[in-house]
Amino acid sequence: MLLKPQFCGLSMQPVSHTYPLVASNRNIVITMHQKPDGDAMGASLGLFHFLKNLGNDVSVISPTNWAKFLSWMPGCKDVLDFEIQQQKSTELLEKADMLFCLDFNSMHRTKKMETILLGAKCVKVLIDHHEQPAEEHFDYGVSNIRKSSTCEMVYDYIVESPYADKLDLDIAACLYTGIMTDTGSFRFAITSAQTHKAVAHFKEMGLEHSIIHEKIYDNFLENRLRFIGNALLNRLEVFYEYNTALMVIPKWDITKYEIQTGDTEGLVNYLLTIEGIKLGALLIDRVEERKWSFRSKGDFDVNEMARNFFEGGGHKNAAGGRSNATIDENVTKFKEVIKYYENQLS
Ligand code: 5GP
Ligand code: MN
Repeated sequence: MLLKPQFCGLSMQPVSHTYPLVASNRNIVITMHQKPDGDAMGASLGLFHFLKNLGNDVSVISPTNWAKFLSWMPGCKDVLDFEIQQQKSTELLEKADMLFCLDFNSMHRTKKMETILLGAKCVKVLIDHHEQPAEEHFDYGVSNIRKSSTCEMVYDYIVESPYADKLDLDIAACLYTGIMTDTGSFRFAITSAQTHKAVAHFKEMGLEHSIIHEKIYDNFLENRLRFIGNALLNRLEVFYEYNTALMVIPKWDITKYEIQTGDTEGLVNYLLTIEGIKLGALLIDRVEERKWSFRSKGDFDVNEMARNFFEGGGHKNAAGGRSNATIDENVTKFKEVIKYYENQLS
């Protein structure tokens, strides 16, 4: 078992201090937030290949299933789904020397894995770009809200290490995916010169980026397009006095259009395409809970709104939340919440 760092403060040790620990022969588990997106899966698999290239025994565990459009990623077929492979996942966590937690700020984002992760005795490392990280749970780590994506942070972790030569095309493909998806294909303000330099490096290595765009964005069934058409036509309400658009998806639509994990990703972004809209909110009636997605333009802080009112969080311009209350109760609450923020929205 790896020894924990000797310090008594609450803060994490710099992630660079893990370089000697990952040099070889460790049992390492990598995990990410539930319903992983391109960034969570890309960062986990990019790191997976890097740590394997160094001679470690590495496993990737997702707390839940993931979108079909991520399955092409190198290594994805070996990712464990905790909800299906609970026993094997638990065994891997028990014998792990190190645990890397990627693209989440709070352990409850790992759903049913939360208790096991909190109780795990191994060395814990965080690499993440969300606001208010729960640093007290980690021995080492880096949390930087100015980074476009966790994939960009894994890129930094690799190229700043003594093992930068281990970066290969599989890693580049995984990391490109998360950088592309989290930056909205390089359009969000968070996209920096460093982001583009990372991508330039991937291109110099020979990465064919347009193939990745196709695999992620042009790989759906007809049903999904018809579902989106119906949602735009029948499930959208605009509150011009608050510069807010709300879309509510009932269970019925999910069943009728056979909507799968990942099919609703990006839907919330349509709301911000209406001129003048500052806040877009999408509410989906999922089987186990009501799930919120929030997006904003400019100064309106959806992370704060989600934390204060919708049991969630995320980033200033993109956040999520959840609720056990009914759809109608959620909509009523949302209408009160936008009144509360009237001064900032109007
Ligand atoms: P999305 O709307 O795409 O699901 O999520 C937007 C952002 O908010 C992502 O960075 C995601 O990780 C974060 N997020 C989504 N749902 C939650 C939640 O329930 N809690 C917290 N803390 N963050 C969330
Ligand atoms: Mn991310």
